[in-house]
Amino acid sequence: MKKLNRREFLATSGAAASSALLPAGEAEASGAAPPSYDYAEAVLYDATRCIGCRSCQRACREYNGLAPEAGELNGVRFEMPAQLSEEHWMVLQVYREEPDAAAAEGRDPDWSYLKRNCMHCNVPACVSVCPVGALQKTDTGAVTYDEDRCIGCRYCLFACPYRVPRYEWVDRTPRVRKCNWNRACVRACPVGALTGGARAKLVAEAHERIEERPDRYVDHVYGEHEGGGTSYLILAGVGHDKLALPSISPSVRSSYVDPIMGSLPGWIVGMGLFLGGLYQIERRRRERESMRNGENDGEGPP
Ligand code: SF4
Ligand code: SF4
Ligand code: SF4
Repeated sequence: MKKLNRREFLATSGAAASSALLPAGEAEASGAAPPSYDYAEAVLYDATRCIGCRSCQRACREYNGLAPEAGELNGVRFEMPAQLSEEHWMVLQVYREEPDAAAAEGRDPDWSYLKRNCMHCNVPACVSVCPVGALQKTDTGAVTYDEDRCIGCRYCLFACPYRVPRYEWVDRTPRVRKCNWNRACVRACPVGALTGGARAKLVAEAHERIEERPDRYVDHVYGEHEGGGTSYLILAGVGHDKLALPSISPSVRSSYVDPIMGSLPGWIVGMGLFLGGLYQIERRRRERESMRNGENDGEGPP
């Protein structure tokens, strides 16, 4: 099946009404060279400097008003969610190499922390599939989410090669949830494992660190080129494959999406949008209803 761009996608589905929701002049994900966002604000995470304190995780939760999640390690309780969820937009994961494999080679096992969150891709697959422009790549480098536009189709969840967006499955008015790039984590880091700044400057700095300490780093700035580049960059002492970061060619861009979208018959796409539209109407009806109830609470019975 021919690859659909977003407008063709809408036309195929017969959801012309939804096109009124599209942001004017939005760039298509395919065709043009990927933008660099070199001077937009980026963040460099250096896993070799990270001490695993999780101050970033706490700062993220507090800044965004998210619920804590307790975990337990060797009988001690910590706030330690292992995976991203609707309440955890960033998590700190730990990679440990199998000790026997390392021992067989006569060395200590490799290990590393990994601060995982939205990569804020330069050419985000999530943006390219969103039929109503609820997700946007902005000039600041952030990939933002507008819950008022979202119709709950959840295409973004399947499109993201990093499996980042999460959904409030059990909520009455569900939303997509992910890092919103407020950088509370950077401000909270006590050891300089997180550095904010212009993307070009951070890429150069990352390469300098590798050059100065080749024994400390893998020679790879993850996010410099992956999928057209990202605003969240990762330096580590072990390979990205061990950290479960996907290998994505610089030219891939939305092609993680293409096989999915290309294999969908038009009627399924249309059905998704139709149901999404119904959902949005119902959601707005409920919001109006609760607003009316709220006003009545304050003003007495109508
Ligand atoms: S990591 Fe996923 S959710 Fe974040 S911008 Fe990239 S495609 Fe979108
Ligand atoms: S769930 Fe919302 S944000 Fe995600 S693709 Fe659908 S409309 Fe866009
Ligand atoms: S605050 Fe800094 S040192 Fe602590 S876990 Fe986060 S990135 Fe690592």
